[in-house]
Amino acid sequence: MSSFKSPISLATSGDGGGDRVGLSHRASGEVHVIVGPMFAGKTTALLRRVKAESNSGRSVAMIKSSKDTRYAINSVVTHDGTKFPCWALPNLMSFRQKFGADAYDKLDVIGIDEAQFFDDLYDFCCKAADLDGKTIVIAGLDGDYLRRSFGSVLDIIPIADSITKLTARCELCGKRAFFTLRKTGETKTELIGGSDVYMPVCRQHYVNGQVVVVAVQNVLKPCSKIQSDSHMEEVAVV
Ligand SMILES: [Zn+2]
Repeated sequence: MSSFKSPISLATSGDGGGDRVGLSHRASGEVHVIVGPMFAGKTTALLRRVKAESNSGRSVAMIKSSKDTRYAINSVVTHDGTKFPCWALPNLMSFRQKFGADAYDKLDVIGIDEAQFFDDLYDFCCKAADLDGKTIVIAGLDGDYLRRSFGSVLDIIPIADSITKLTARCELCGKRAFFTLRKTGETKTELIGGSDVYMPVCRQHYVNGQVVVVAVQNVLKPCSKIQSDSHMEEVAVV
């Protein structure tokens, strides 16, 4: 007649667990979320934040999805060539083990890029921020090319300290762009691509998407013109 099993077992006595969590002496964790369409500078913002933390003496690590391997596997890269070493992983729960338990314990800040690809985002953030006292900074797409919720990025809003929605610039009119338009008629579920496949658009041009896709195909042909200044991020849209 004991069992009141909490799903989260804190440092109780019993099975020799000892100090598994040690909540008392840890700093409180934080969760910060950066969302927006493709080419909005999410990765740049994430890197800036993580670097600032590093510069102020905190121990940092960066994680990205191993799904997108078009660019450097072990670094996060922005369009302006800024690089940061990272762990490319299929899921987040494997991070602690891969990184090493001792090293993980000393870690203050964890950056996560392409967060829409991680199915275990919510569980990881809960554990890392609530129990382990980490500051988590997440960058990801809030919506896919059909403006549907993407992965579990929106699921972490309720556990976030702050949410920042960045905008890009509409490639057709220059206004602020909130959405990602797929330029091609491709409808398969997962399509990884950069500015050859996707572009940021304002609401009006998103709504007129079909017309736009045709127009762009005519102007663009295989993609040379519109590649100038919008390579902020290369991530996939489902
Ligand atoms: Zn527009």
